[in-house]
Amino acid sequence: MRADEIRSQFLDYFARQGHTVRPSASLVPVDDPTLLFTNAGMVPFKKVFLGMESAPYTRASTSQKCVRAGGKHNDLENVGYTARHHTFFEMLGNFSFGDYFKRDAIRFAWELLTDVYGIDRNRLWVTVHHTDDEARQLWIEVAGVKPERIFGLGDKDNFWQMADTGPCGPCSEIHFDLRPEGRRGTEVTREEFEEIGEAGEFLEIWNLVFMQFDRDADGELHPLPAPCVDTGMGLERLASVLQGVDANYKTDLFADIIARAVGVVGVPYEYDTEQGVSYRVLADHARATAFLLADGVFPSNEGRGYVLRRILRRAVRHAWLLGRRTPTLVEVVEAVIERMGAVYPELQARREYIVSNTRAEEERFLATIDAGIRLFDQLAPGRQVNVSHILLSIPAEATPHEEEQLWTKAEHIRQRAIAGEDFEALVREYSTDAHAKEYGGKLGYFGGGRMVPEFEHAAARLKPGEISEVVETPFGLHIIKHEGSRTVPMNRPAKLSGADVFKLYDTFGFPVDLTELMARERGYEVDLAGFETELDAQRRRSREDRAASGVGMDDSFSMGWEEVEGAAGAEQDFAAYRATSS
Ligand code: ATP
Ligand code: MG
Ligand code: MG
Ligand code: MG
Repeated sequence: MRADEIRSQFLDYFARQGHTVRPSASLVPVDDPTLLFTNAGMVPFKKVFLGMESAPYTRASTSQKCVRAGGKHNDLENVGYTARHHTFFEMLGNFSFGDYFKRDAIRFAWELLTDVYGIDRNRLWVTVHHTDDEARQLWIEVAGVKPERIFGLGDKDNFWQMADTGPCGPCSEIHFDLRPEGRRGTEVTREEFEEIGEAGEFLEIWNLVFMQFDRDADGELHPLPAPCVDTGMGLERLASVLQGVDANYKTDLFADIIARAVGVVGVPYEYDTEQGVSYRVLADHARATAFLLADGVFPSNEGRGYVLRRILRRAVRHAWLLGRRTPTLVEVVEAVIERMGAVYPELQARREYIVSNTRAEEERFLATIDAGIRLFDQLAPGRQVNVSHILLSIPAEATPHEEEQLWTKAEHIRQRAIAGEDFEALVREYSTDAHAKEYGGKLGYFGGGRMVPEFEHAAARLKPGEISEVVETPFGLHIIKHEGSRTVPMNRPAKLSGADVFKLYDTFGFPVDLTELMARERGYEVDLAGFETELDAQRRRSREDRAASGVGMDDSFSMGWEEVEGAAGAEQDFAAYRATSS
């Protein structure tokens, strides 16, 4: 069943149960400075839940655009690595505003999943809040779920809140058993259930929230005027279940988009590789980019615009890692508009705007990314040297003694790298004329889809998947970098200073979280407090400059030209952003 059909069947089902089907609201919450983006289906109904607004219906159903890339729910760093997290996704939901409560919410969910979509009930498992005996009982009574398949979990998983304040309540979640056939369906303890879930073999698909409270700024819970129901199910995850695949990216929602990325980049897409991660990041971030631009968020250095910029630049870096040096994301964004435009007409309507702004932002970052990455490499040279094999090209006429010497030399490089010397510097050293003459052969490496033909014999010594990277030296010597299990700690300071992070940010446009991510890949920490100090100092300087020149004496931080020309979203202030991005 295609995702478009899954979505409409959901809405049709709830329409038949007396729900008013509403279109998705904007990703930018209306009138709500406490929230960066719409991050769940209930967000547009927040005031209705709180009893501050009334709606002309007591039951509603939507497929809501969501972004979780900042604030309380932030999945940005999962993207590309887990099979089920996106920055942008669609949340299918049904809502009761003081109308039905737990019993019907459970009945609807179970009937839809098992009867309408035909999911095997033996593969469904349920969690409730450990204090919620009522919900536990209803699952047994209404849905016929075996008691041993219902687990009571704590607040972390089974108490839902949109943000630190606002509507909240205990929840109950439905999980799909993804274990391989032999183990599937076998009973597990609560601890095992949680462990298997962590490993991705129980897939959380649907969250039924029994909204009973409003949490105030002091953390105090107040009962809502009438208990409500708010449910949310990720369309991408449901599609993966109904299409029988083990990752959202393997559904028809992503197939065309990834295919376009592969077409543009030209490197083959294999799921379990670094390239696979990069392609998934590109596909995911292209969706977020297209939808955020369509809803009026403009890349900038503050608030919502900064989150969009972070997403965009993270995507550009992954295109860069795939070898691209020219705009690429923009092509993937076009594929998103083609794939999703029929369901979300705002994409079509703002096509020009979306495409031209993506391209401009991409070009702007591409202009500095090379220099930035070079600087980064200097600031944070590889702490983890994953070299355990270096291959040599041995000339056919080499004597056994000469061959032995070549291998000895390779071993020297390896030992010195493991002892903590910089790998690239070693390559340069051993590539000097003197060395080359002395040994007469070539150091060899291969990988990354390319193979130097004369090293094929040597390549046969390595198992597939062991090779991480190809490096070409200016001297024509080739080194195999082999990603073994060996990671080598090096004696260098493990922290990138605030000043360095600031330089990457200010001069090269590297969003802090991008630098953080790159640093983490190399085993470095980042001095975030130091970065904040630098940033504050810069703000003070620019304020003083303006004061000296007699313009803009107000106390607020200058947002720069991008924000002035920016559309909605740019006015979001940094304080609010920081307050929600813990
Ligand atoms: P998870 O534990 O997998 O991170 P969650 O508990 O944070 O999910 P909820 O807040 O309960 O998710 O949201 C309701 C539903 O929305 C989830 O059950 C899931 O189907 C979907 N969902 C949540 N986060 C994402 C995401 N980042 N990408 C895609 N779907 C998501
Ligand atoms: Mg989550
Ligand atoms: Mg969860
Ligand atoms: Mg959940």
